[in-house]
Amino acid sequence: MTLSVQGWHLDETAAQLTLQVTTTRTRVRCPLCHTLTRRVHSRYARTLVDLPWGPYTVHLHLRVRKFFCDQPMCPCQIFTERVPTVAAPWARRTLRLAQRLRACGLALGGETGARLGHRLGLPTSPDTLLRLVQTAPALDTPAPHILGVDEWAWRRGQRYGTILVNLETHRVLDLLPERSADMVAQWLAQHPTVTVVCRDRSALYADGMRRGTPHVVQVVDRFHLVKNLREAIEAFLHDQRPALQAAAACTAQVLTQVAGPVAAPTMYRGRHRCFQAGQRRQEAAQQHRHTAWVTTYEAIHTLRAQGTSVTAIAAQLGISRPTVYAYLRRTRPPSPRSPQRSGQVLRPYMAYLVQRWREGCTDSMQRWREMRALGYAYSSRTVSRFLTRLRRARAAGWAPETQTSPYTRPQGPSARAVSFTWVCPEAKRAQDAQLYVDQLTQAHPPIAQAYTLSQAFLALVRERRGDALATWITEARASAIAALARFAEGLQEDLAAITTGLTLPWSNGVVEGHVNRLKLLKRQSYGRAGVGLLRQRLMQAV
Ligand SMILES: [Zn+2]
Repeated sequence: MTLSVQGWHLDETAAQLTLQVTTTRTRVRCPLCHTLTRRVHSRYARTLVDLPWGPYTVHLHLRVRKFFCDQPMCPCQIFTERVPTVAAPWARRTLRLAQRLRACGLALGGETGARLGHRLGLPTSPDTLLRLVQTAPALDTPAPHILGVDEWAWRRGQRYGTILVNLETHRVLDLLPERSADMVAQWLAQHPTVTVVCRDRSALYADGMRRGTPHVVQVVDRFHLVKNLREAIEAFLHDQRPALQAAAACTAQVLTQVAGPVAAPTMYRGRHRCFQAGQRRQEAAQQHRHTAWVTTYEAIHTLRAQGTSVTAIAAQLGISRPTVYAYLRRTRPPSPRSPQRSGQVLRPYMAYLVQRWREGCTDSMQRWREMRALGYAYSSRTVSRFLTRLRRARAAGWAPETQTSPYTRPQGPSARAVSFTWVCPEAKRAQDAQLYVDQLTQAHPPIAQAYTLSQAFLALVRERRGDALATWITEARASAIAALARFAEGLQEDLAAITTGLTLPWSNGVVEGHVNRLKLLKRQSYGRAGVGLLRQRLMQAV
């Protein structure tokens, strides 16, 4: 409506279409005093790049005018006419082109966005895209009431920032460059509509919230509570290795009674990979890691003996505080771990091997050749290891089917794996997992006590019975399970916020999701993006 095409020129060699355009309005308003005027002072040309037309880039040669302002008191004597629906006052490209480029930049960042732009016929430089992203106008967002706060890592163990999410709309509200009480306090003071804040268990955020807005209801996120409980269980189970191992044998015993008819084999044609080279690489990497663990273990224990604080040790060694605590809980350096033999490559063929075993075919090389014909692409050692397990199971009087379960491994499942089984709801556990837990708790009263206590806590979390928390804490502290007593003492320190966490429906699952997205964006820009760019991309991404 405001522009009129006067002529055009098509340059085939440069693939460029140039349109001569003028503005059509006869009377124009002064941008300062808004008086209408028609007195032209002069004319000049602006060149704007527009959206492409097929393979042609489109340039607008825009003739614009300068006007006199007729209002004698106006400080703006001469002004240029604006075309607000077409381009910003000083811009070299039209609004609609800038919008598309900005969308590319928000979705993909500078480099990748510029490459995509080039493919779409919107050539631009990475720097221009980043500038467009940085200057993107703020979105109109409703005032937040329920806030989720969590930390995110600039560099794991070294530098952290803070992410703030509106838990009602599930949108990111802000990204703070630091994890500090002051910053959170300041942010909350600027946003007085917030009434409930959901956070992790760090005392730091709790302090910031108390100072920023004392009336805000603090809620401890249930995800972090369950996570801390699981860690306590794992620490407890670390010392129960003989029991974990014994329960594996008992589970095999029980599974022998319930082992039904042999299942039909499931066929899987695996990818061909050079197994041995991979394994050698894995072993070398493992050896390297183990040396590093021992060095770290010795450094931490030496520093601690000298009276250095955990925070200072973490900063000095460039590791996180939870890792320092984990090392301090150990009384001797970690032992070398054998390379991961997860049995995953064998899993699809286990039923077949068990069936052949029942038919009396127990020669491992022969079985390996048969499996290769079925598509198995890994070493014969893996097969022979499994057949050794079957041989031992036969000697112990167990059904060969029992050996397909990870809970019957001769060395027993890891404390970590069992701790995850414990916090998994009973209804979701596999049959062998449940049998294993039953065996473990039946034979060892302290483990049974720890199990009952942890299940009672999980019930509080799942059924949101915050009122029963105080009773649970008393019970756990009185128990002989040191790890759970420590966990309960920790709860005591933040009791009010945890009780509301176990009562109100809010939780930080959404925030964890956004932190994951943030990690992706961070890596997409190869770790070079600053907080401003990350904030824009997180908040405005399409
Ligand atoms: Zn004026």
